[in-house]
Amino acid sequence: MDDYTLVMNAGSSSLKFCVYRRPEAESWRLEARGQIEGIGTSPRFSARDGAGGVLADQRLDAAVRDGRSALDSLAAWLGSRYGGARVLGVGHRVVHGGARFAGPTVVTPQVLEELRALIPLAPLHQPHNLAAIEAVLELLPGVPQVACFDTAFHRGQPAVAELVPLPREVCRSGVQRYGFHGLSYEYVASVLPRAAPEIAHGRVIVAHLGSGASLCALRDGRSVDSSFGFTALDGLCMGTRPGALDPGVVLYLFQGLGLSAEDVEAMLYTKSGLLGISGISNDMRDLLASSEPGARLAVDYFVYRAAKEIGALAAVLGGIDGLVFTAGIGENSAEIRRRICEASAWLGVEIDPEANERKGPRISRAGSRVSAFVIPTNEELMIARHTGRFLGLTEAPS
Ligand code: ADP
Repeated sequence: MDDYTLVMNAGSSSLKFCVYRRPEAESWRLEARGQIEGIGTSPRFSARDGAGGVLADQRLDAAVRDGRSALDSLAAWLGSRYGGARVLGVGHRVVHGGARFAGPTVVTPQVLEELRALIPLAPLHQPHNLAAIEAVLELLPGVPQVACFDTAFHRGQPAVAELVPLPREVCRSGVQRYGFHGLSYEYVASVLPRAAPEIAHGRVIVAHLGSGASLCALRDGRSVDSSFGFTALDGLCMGTRPGALDPGVVLYLFQGLGLSAEDVEAMLYTKSGLLGISGISNDMRDLLASSEPGARLAVDYFVYRAAKEIGALAAVLGGIDGLVFTAGIGENSAEIRRRICEASAWLGVEIDPEANERKGPRISRAGSRVSAFVIPTNEELMIARHTGRFLGLTEAPS
């Protein structure tokens, strides 16, 4: 009988998954990859096979309005297709591993408890990640689950990079800079030796620009700092999050405007950033297509902030050898890449406009002091590799 492993990446409005299959005496291959998106609004299920052929593309019943009902629909689809298959393990993206989890870990009741305690640190993501683990516990009891953390790749940074300069007793309670998008950065770092060998062991800034956006400073493939901090609110301007903010503004929201903690949380996680500035959309495509002044300002600020933070991380690294773009905006928007590269020209980045339009992978001119690349991320594959290795499978998906 063939072996299977599953990967789940459960977010607030989407549930992404991958199925890997290992036919007897063969190596692991991607069997299916898909998602339920629009959970809570207009849910839609789509899945493709390993070669990109469409397996499913359909609207779901509006009753799929929360994470649990999305998980049930996915379970029904998987059951109808792979019912009775031998599932060796399930790997999950878990956004926050706190200070304790510095690598993938097998989920036990005790681990689950510790991860629940981190919900206030990542209220947009952690509850959904854990709900997926709980659903699998119920539906596939006894199948080992591996939690793969977005924070883990950043552990081991210098003390000054992890520090939040508040009184020691506050820091002892877990207030430090954690960094996120670690699975994406770890994946990019893992493919650099093949995709961009001349910078793989140098000083590289990776820009993960999606609906969440951050930067990571790599030295020899290891994270030395990132733009995310204690939570995934810090750093760059994002779709609905503001990025770095004067803490005095947050005090003013409470003291001056009398907002409740719930209101402030909703504002910071869901109403700010590109959406807040433009008043139009959190989707970069909409903003780039709009001639409204608010949309233009939102795009200008996104680029300004990214270039400013690239400068800050370049200072941390003492100069850079490479700049890598990834995730939805980084992989698909030639305009945003061009503008960020132009704003970073002082560092020695010289963009090649034609290569940039073609999506590279190399988008810098020959002779540019800093090489720039577009490298598509693959967080699910990173999770599959961790899950495979962790469960002692003879050979992890590659
Ligand atoms: P996440 O996984 O964090 O939800 P993604 O990495 O999928 O996000 O990125 C989503 C973002 O990518 C959206 O804001 C969307 O506007 C943007 N995006 C996708 N394609 C393009 C494009 N062609 N041009 C500009 N932005 C794009």
